[in-house]
Parts: sequence; structure tokens; C-alpha cells
Amino acid sequence: MIFDTHAHYDDEAFDADREELLDGMAACGIGSIVNACASIKSLTTTPALARTYPFVYAAVGIHPDDAGQVTDEILEKIRELTDQEKVVAVGEIGLDYYWHKEEEEHRIQQKVFRSQMEIAREKGLPFIVHSRDAGQDTLDIVREYVQRGMTGGIIHCFSYGEELAREYIQMGLFLGIGGVVTYKNARKLPEVVSMTPLSQLVLETDCPYLSPVPERGKRNDSSKLPLVVRKIAEIKGVDEETVIRTTQENAEKLFSIKVLA
Ligand SMILES: [Zn+2]
Repeated sequence: MIFDTHAHYDDEAFDADREELLDGMAACGIGSIVNACASIKSLTTTPALARTYPFVYAAVGIHPDDAGQVTDEILEKIRELTDQEKVVAVGEIGLDYYWHKEEEEHRIQQKVFRSQMEIAREKGLPFIVHSRDAGQDTLDIVREYVQRGMTGGIIHCFSYGEELAREYIQMGLFLGIGGVVTYKNARKLPEVVSMTPLSQLVLETDCPYLSPVPERGKRNDSSKLPLVVRKIAEIKGVDEETVIRTTQENAEKLFSIKVLA
């Protein structure tokens, strides 16, 4: 069954049909979903989804977009949430210099990113990293923490070239691959997928965003992941079942989830 390692089902884009959609996932071949926090409000709505649906797990953390709003109380709340049963990672955390160009914003993002990596390290949980236009700074922080001993992690929506991919592969981390790999203008990503061992790739939607071709531009959800599976299978010259099974095993191992067949 397909493992979606990165979704945002608490997003308002799903307000009209969330229940119906999630109830239909198993019939679409989707076995497990990690819902990643994307905002401070999401620290409440993401664990609630994990409590409601047996196949939904939670990643808790604050996205770099909201780094400026993070207080010590919020970091404490994240630390407390990591003790909940179905919280399997700290995320999504990281750096976004595409939307935030000011030096001062970068400093705040780096501080908040480090504080959350520290929580992941303390709690022995993997991390889910968001990184856009911040390749070197992300690499420096991730490397520092991996050297201090981390459970592992995912570089989500990997958007850099082969050189950075190689660094993360050498650290034993996973690259999260979603709809972007099907886009005609995503030239670097197929090369990255081609060079990365299947044992270090995981599937993700980032829904409601980044719907794969030919659904590009529409609302995304996990049932569209077979389009991503097909593309990865084509790039790597393996069958689709191998992609599904291997990425599922990778995710279950990383998140320490045992799914009974
Ligand atoms: Zn996301």
C-alpha cells in the first residue's frame, strides 16, 4: 500500500469533504499518511486527525513561514506533543528564503529550525525538513544535527540538484518525492531520482498543493500518488509495485510504524 509521508488534510481546502475523502483512501491503495503541521493552529488540528483516523499519523512542528511567531511556550507545546502515541516526527521545519528575503528573517528561521531539531534529537524522533532557496544553510544545520546523532529524516519536496542530493544520501537521509517529478519544467528532479537509491526515497503529496500531471493546478490528495509512482518507476526502470513496496518499507522504518497487512 502507498505511504504518503507528507500531507496537510487539516487545510481548509478539505473542509467540504475531508471525511469522505479520507474514508475512501484505503480503496485507492493508500495505506498510511503522515499529516505534517503547517501552522501554529495545525499543532491542534494535526494530532486530532491522527486520533480520528487509524491510518493517519502526525508530524508536529512549525513551518519556517511562521518562525517569527514561535515563542518558548509554542516550543514547549511541540515537546509535549511528541509524547503522544501517533506523533511520529518533528515537522515540517526548516528554511524558506524564497518567500522571506530579509537577513533578519533568515536568522529567526535558523534559530527556530535549530530549536525544533533539538526537540527531535532529544525525543529520538525523525525530522521532516522544508527547504527552499536555502540549500547551503539547510545542509549546514542538518549536517550538524546528524553528526550529533539523529534518528533520521526526510528532505521534503526536494528541490535542489545532484550535488546536494548526494550530501543527504551520504548522511542516510530520505528525499521526499511528489507531484513535481511529473512536471515538464522540473529538469533536475528526474536526475536526482535517477541517482538516489530507491531505499532512500519516500512518496509524498504535500496536498492540497503540487498535484501531479495531468491533474496539475487542481487540488491534490493522496489518491493521485499512483501518477508519481508511475513516473519514479519509469525513471528507475523498475515496476510500480517495487516503488510502492520499497517506499512504504522506507517510511515504516523511519517512523517506526508497524502496519499489519
Ligand atoms: Zn508541506
